[in-house]
Amino acid sequence: MRRSLLVTLSVVILIAYQFSFASAADKVQVVVSIPPQVYFVNQIGGDLVNAMSMLPEGGFPHTYEPTPDQMRLLSEADMYVRIKVEFENAWWDKMLAANPDMHVVDSTVGIDFGHDHDYEDEHPEDKPHEHEGKHHEEKETMHAHHGHDPHIWLSPKLVKLQAESICEGLIQVDPNNKEIYISNKNMFLKALDELDRDVQERLTNLKTRKFMVFHPSWTYFARDYNLEQIPIEIEGKEPSVAEMAALIKTAKTQNICVIFVQPQTSKRSAETIAKQIGAKVKILDPLAENWMENIRAVAETLAEELSSD
Ligand code: ZN
Repeated sequence: MRRSLLVTLSVVILIAYQFSFASAADKVQVVVSIPPQVYFVNQIGGDLVNAMSMLPEGGFPHTYEPTPDQMRLLSEADMYVRIKVEFENAWWDKMLAANPDMHVVDSTVGIDFGHDHDYEDEHPEDKPHEHEGKHHEEKETMHAHHGHDPHIWLSPKLVKLQAESICEGLIQVDPNNKEIYISNKNMFLKALDELDRDVQERLTNLKTRKFMVFHPSWTYFARDYNLEQIPIEIEGKEPSVAEMAALIKTAKTQNICVIFVQPQTSKRSAETIAKQIGAKVKILDPLAENWMENIRAVAETLAEELSSD
């Protein structure tokens, strides 16, 4: 009796194992542009998906160019989640040509890209959401941080909208698991609300709300939490000598005591300014794949640095 139970149990385990092993190949293959999106897709797709990022660790989305190996990755994809970072916009025609059958999700739907008002006044024809024409694609690349700030993955509030788009996409590609995707998404939305509240709370009592940063990745984050980001990089370039002098003056008058850099960019100008004003240089990573833990770490670093003397 006992023995037959054991045999039955092993058979059940064996079947379950084989089943899960076989189904690994049936996972929905999702390709995304940057590592934080892998996190978003995994939260909603769980075990049902296999998510991969075009941008490898350490890559910089403004200057990156996909390798032939990564282009081949696309041929396996069931679904692509667009976020419209610079390399993705520049390569999109080729990426789509590599797999015209993949289901394309635009995770920027419903998001109002904060754009520079002066730029919009000068170019009223350039509406960030209506850009199927080649003409605009070129402009968008040139004015990456001017007409269209792409860093929407760093605002928990905007990630909630991206989660909705990803969930809808997975349901279209794999309708049989609709209930699972919806329930995972709802859990993720709750976690995002909690994160948003925690970050808000952590960044409440600060000595200063202004911070200097080399590459302006934190525009939406700063907007959400009432901080002011002062970028060193101008139009995607290192500042000129005159611009550096102006930045040093600004840093002095604003009592800047820390300058943030990210692992993917040059630290040179940040270090030069820091030396001139006696500030320290610290790292904030906008592209870590372990997104939620990273956002909490970013809030912690900002809270510590902006409330110390
Ligand atoms: Zn950027």
